[in-house]
Amino acid sequence: MALINDHYQKLQAGYLFPEIGRRVGAYCQANPDAAVIRLGIGDVTLPLVPAVVAALHEAVDEMASEKSFRGYGPDNGYDFLTEQIREHDYRRRGVAIELDEIFVSDGSKQDSGNIQEIFGADCTLSVTDPSYPVYVDTNVMAGRSGEANERGYYGGIVYLPANEDNGFTPGPPEQGVDIAYLCSPNNPTGAVASRQNLQQWVDWARENDAVIVFDAAYDAFIQDDALPRSIFEIEGARECAIEMRSFSKRAGFTGVRCAYTVIPKSVTGSNATGERVALHGLWARRHSTKFNAVPYIVQRAAAACYSPEGAAQTAEQVGYYMENARCIREGLGAAGFTVFAGEHAPYVWLKTPRGLTSWQCFDELLEKAHVVGTPGSGFGPSGEGYFRISAFNSRENVDEAIERIGKAFGG
Ligand SMILES: *Cc1c(COP(=O)(O)O)cnc(C)c1O
Repeated sequence: MALINDHYQKLQAGYLFPEIGRRVGAYCQANPDAAVIRLGIGDVTLPLVPAVVAALHEAVDEMASEKSFRGYGPDNGYDFLTEQIREHDYRRRGVAIELDEIFVSDGSKQDSGNIQEIFGADCTLSVTDPSYPVYVDTNVMAGRSGEANERGYYGGIVYLPANEDNGFTPGPPEQGVDIAYLCSPNNPTGAVASRQNLQQWVDWARENDAVIVFDAAYDAFIQDDALPRSIFEIEGARECAIEMRSFSKRAGFTGVRCAYTVIPKSVTGSNATGERVALHGLWARRHSTKFNAVPYIVQRAAAACYSPEGAAQTAEQVGYYMENARCIREGLGAAGFTVFAGEHAPYVWLKTPRGLTSWQCFDELLEKAHVVGTPGSGFGPSGEGYFRISAFNSRENVDEAIERIGKAFGG
């Protein structure tokens, strides 16, 4: 008998985005003339920049010639890419990372979901609440939780509420946990962690022998150069942190697929007899066993993001989305909404008006303004009463959405 992994049955039914799709689909069917604007799913809308497209074409031509054809690539990624990553994303910000501490992959969703495999089944974890659902769901699948209660909290997982009191950047938990997931700039709240906040986390992790899994998928959206873009800018992080970054949001690679994870060799965990074991070796083993590298063509495209033209063009793209975020923040603020964030992330976090639940706000926005956003409660119980508006759309659509929301809700 093929027994199933019954931890899967603990997962809460109706993952957020299918439910949004269902409601929008039903609305559009009933109201075929409504021009619905989608500011919901966190997917980019602008096409790949010219420097990336040129690199893709060139790499395809290389694959078409016997002399320059490439098959399986090196496990960690090609040096032409990891050297660029080390130089631009780390060394220029004063961070020393070795080339083989970088693992190129096909996505931070995968990496942030798979990383839990190298930890023991009994490890405990914390997440900030609300959070990107992958951290919790993959640990539930692996059996590191009990059942969910009626509010949506899984037994055994430590939830750290991100709220107005802590500026949506909670500090470390009182109790010891073994793995702490952090994301800054944050999806969904759009909040960015300060240097002090991250230092608190790193100090806590070292005192408690915990590991921080730091998701920096939105680092390129940070507008203030004094804010940390990497956890490794924080003293002591090389002893306790793993970092993930992605080309998805910073260069429009959501459909191209390229990301990387950094695991310093100095980050260790314990085995059953108390010996220290480097996590780097475990992840290297996992990577080489279960993954066969990112396509050569895609790695060439990712490397092109660091050329002078590629860097300028992708920065311009990020700037376009950040201008959208500014319009949303100011426009909805002027319409009377309480708005947060959107200054260092492509997301604006709203308090729902009149005490509406997140889903009531979703339905009202759809019916009255024909605008789709994302209910905060879909990212965790503390997201209830909040709403996420994404800046990933055209300026025209953003302006139109703000105007409609202002008319429907303002005054
Ligand atoms: C979009 C996103 C990612 C990126 O995932 P990819 O698999 O690299 O596309 C990772 N983490 C968060 C929080 C995200 O929002």
